[in-house]
Amino acid sequence: GDVHDIGKNIVGVVLQCNNYDVVDLGVMVAAQTILDTAKAENADVIGLSGLITPSLDEMVNLATEMERQGFEIPLLIGGATTSKAHTAVKVDQKYHGPVVWVKDASRSVPVVAQLLSDERRQSLLDETDTEYARLRERHANRQDTRKLLSIEAAREQATAIDWSDYTPPRPHFLVQQAKDVHTDDPAKAGATSFTKVFDDYSLGELREFIDWGPFFNAWEMKGRYPDILNNPSTSETARKLFDDANAMLDKIVDEKWLQAKGVFGLFPASQVARDSIEVYTDESRTEVRAQLHQLRQQTEGREGSSRKSLADFVAPKDSGLRDYVGAFAVTAGIGSADKVEAFRKELDDYSAILLESLADRLAEAFAERLHERVRTEFWGFASDEQLSNAELIAEKYRGIRPAPGYPACPEHTEKQTIWDLLDAEATTGIQLTESMAMWPGASVSGLYFSHPDSQYFVLGRVGRDQVEDYADRKGWDLATAEKWLSPNLGYSPDDE
Ligand code: SAH
Repeated sequence: GDVHDIGKNIVGVVLQCNNYDVVDLGVMVAAQTILDTAKAENADVIGLSGLITPSLDEMVNLATEMERQGFEIPLLIGGATTSKAHTAVKVDQKYHGPVVWVKDASRSVPVVAQLLSDERRQSLLDETDTEYARLRERHANRQDTRKLLSIEAAREQATAIDWSDYTPPRPHFLVQQAKDVHTDDPAKAGATSFTKVFDDYSLGELREFIDWGPFFNAWEMKGRYPDILNNPSTSETARKLFDDANAMLDKIVDEKWLQAKGVFGLFPASQVARDSIEVYTDESRTEVRAQLHQLRQQTEGREGSSRKSLADFVAPKDSGLRDYVGAFAVTAGIGSADKVEAFRKELDDYSAILLESLADRLAEAFAERLHERVRTEFWGFASDEQLSNAELIAEKYRGIRPAPGYPACPEHTEKQTIWDLLDAEATTGIQLTESMAMWPGASVSGLYFSHPDSQYFVLGRVGRDQVEDYADRKGWDLATAEKWLSPNLGYSPDDE
């Protein structure tokens, strides 16, 4: 499993409740460890769960190894980043044994029961085979329907922003520091800090910013919040869960079970070479500190539509405008692992999962609250903004906070640049794993864009020309770029 995989934990609990013996190896486990343990334990089934896209390749790798090492047992695939189509197209092809995608945790029990039943196994395998064949065919047919433009042509169709009558807002907290420096110790001149750290953010404050919708999703309860609490078919269970969650939140806040740490930075920056954002060491803009490399949509669209890149939302260097870009990393997961472990020791899986899911909620709430403070206070371009929590969740504000790994910027290693800019590991304690997941899992990071036209979009497929260009910019060889961009490749890297 991936870091902080609540669904995986629920699978473990529901299988155990149904008398299956579950060996939970935890998260970020090497393929060979999984396979060795499966052999040693004489496992009937192996299950993998993935939350972030790099795990998809790891699943393909494990399936390949199962084939190579002569396994016969079924492989179950689940988790938010997986899909039936990916399982059919990528994983199932690598392993001759049964590979079954499990839609959600509650499905794991009937699927395992069927796989282990001599009478009922074949019908499930036949159904799965038919379904996967259909999905592979659909995938093959869909491949070339929308043409990929050359990256040059895509750049010609970049988001049209009129920079000529635009003044980028200068962050208030930089203006403030510049004032302080003039009246203060001159030795401090030039020591202006572009980042701000929150060492122990008030959990009581963050609690008010929780988005409860995803909380019920994490618990696999269908329905929208707050309706879910009143709808007769869901209300009883939902209310119980909600009350338990709030009772635990009282303790989290009062007894300081968790600690919230965060950092953000607002940096002088320009768009360069169309798809990158250059970050400067200071407001003289003479020295480049880092490049935030972006990708651009390349699939052909309607006449007059644009091929977007996040870089479009920062003023181009040759406009002469003094624009900025922001970055942030927040966590509410400090202290979570110990407490979760303690609940597990007491065999209280319910509280363990509840705490993990609440730490996640608080981290998202922190991201929401910090973004609000950045808009109204630290960057200050929206000092009059007054939005309710529902309006914040509906993103009714100016600007965006795209997160690496999400559709506009799916390439996860860009988190490393954010970490370097913010010194995020030292300031917040959040580490990046080898596959670029954040640890603790209850963490959120991303970039801030202030331009009123900035918006989220889906990158989609990219062509080899763009992948080569990206590899160049990142200082990678092509194979490395293809690995990190594999979910978005619009071509097969094996074909010449
Ligand atoms: N309220 C939700 C959190 C917001 S989800 C919760 O509590 O769980 C929306 C976030 O996902 C955005 O703030 C942004 O960080 C990210 N996001 C959504 N769509 C995106 C896209 N297309 N590209 C990049 N990031 C995206």
